[in-house]
Amino acid sequence: MSLIVQKYGGTSVGTVERIEAVASKVAGYRAAGHDLVVVVSAMSGETNRLIALANQIQAVPTPREMDTLVSTGEQVTIALLTMALHQLGCDARSYTGGQVQILTDSAHTKARIETIDVHRIEADLDQGRVVVVAGFQGVDAEGNITTLGRGGSDTTAVALAAALQAHECQIYTDVDGVYTTDPRVVAKARRLDRITFEEMLEMASQGSKVLQIRSVEFAGKYKVPLRVLSSFKDGPGTLISLEDNDEMEKPVVSGIAFNRDEAKLTILGIPDNPGVAYKILGPVSQANIEVDVIVQNVSQDGTTSLTFTVHRNDMAKARKILEQVAQQIGPCQVITDDRIVKVSLVGVGMRSHAGVAARMFEALARDNINIQMITTSEIKITVVIEEKYLELAVRALHSAFELDQPDRTE
Ligand code: ASP
Ligand code: MG
Repeated sequence: MSLIVQKYGGTSVGTVERIEAVASKVAGYRAAGHDLVVVVSAMSGETNRLIALANQIQAVPTPREMDTLVSTGEQVTIALLTMALHQLGCDARSYTGGQVQILTDSAHTKARIETIDVHRIEADLDQGRVVVVAGFQGVDAEGNITTLGRGGSDTTAVALAAALQAHECQIYTDVDGVYTTDPRVVAKARRLDRITFEEMLEMASQGSKVLQIRSVEFAGKYKVPLRVLSSFKDGPGTLISLEDNDEMEKPVVSGIAFNRDEAKLTILGIPDNPGVAYKILGPVSQANIEVDVIVQNVSQDGTTSLTFTVHRNDMAKARKILEQVAQQIGPCQVITDDRIVKVSLVGVGMRSHAGVAARMFEALARDNINIQMITTSEIKITVVIEEKYLELAVRALHSAFELDQPDRTE
């Protein structure tokens, strides 16, 4: 008998029928002898509906009141799911974040969990009850209702699993796992049986948005095995866990992530003196613009060039800053390009395999795809390429690294 924390997302509890379906799934696990804590999101669309209501009154709603408002979505689903469990003869109780005492800081709409009081939950579990907890919400030291940011129910589930030392945290959603890449881009994308926390963070931060990133960081930190599964289709899903060093046949590359939201800025003809990189990037970071890939060229004729990427929404702002800087440091030219994308190979197996980069560049060359920038880390190789080659590049890499599902043709 093991303790499992399950989380069901908005689509999984989007209608009364679906709530009833979740209840029978939960009751099934209970009947099989597991202890269960179930975290639910609001019904799909509900959080957006509540935010829209607030926006009709205040363009920038008061954060404290916003939390009081949006936390109601989850209060509805915990009560309905618990009723559905009772209807099946399954003993269960619902709790809001405040009732549990999921204690957070006071940063309304983006609060962080500080501590969780598990006494009440453990007492119920001892009585044989299923415990249903509202996701996404907590309470600060003064008793104000707080919320954890969009998608925060994932974090609630992981935090509860960590506090209760659960055997596993299962995230039920509308996809049946984490894929080698976005199946909308590569039809032959394959569901991964397992992936490490580190790899998942690289995949998620680059656009494979299955889980709230914070929940993965949290799970990694507290070593909570996390499983992503479908609410609608039976299957093992994807287990996100620590690296398994015993695994003999570790793949070199686990997945391919990509990001269409970037833009590239280049500043040419920079006098090649100590401090110029700081003179250029200092003001960019002071403007709170996050810089991603950075490349500086070798100097030629005493000048150099610097290229970096930012979020597309920040390109115009960054360009203005560079133009001002250019006036101070000499006759530099600023070029921008928002028709670029970032494509990354991700895999802990790269650590022990040489030649992965060369294989990647060879695959791209075969399709005549020009690489504009390259950057690497221990478990990731990223290239910046022209936007129009995104699909071609991801497909070429997917097959070059043998990630394709064998039994499907495109
Ligand atoms: N209901 C919240 C949202 O839509 C939290 C969640 O679903 O995880 O963002
Ligand atoms: Mg979600």
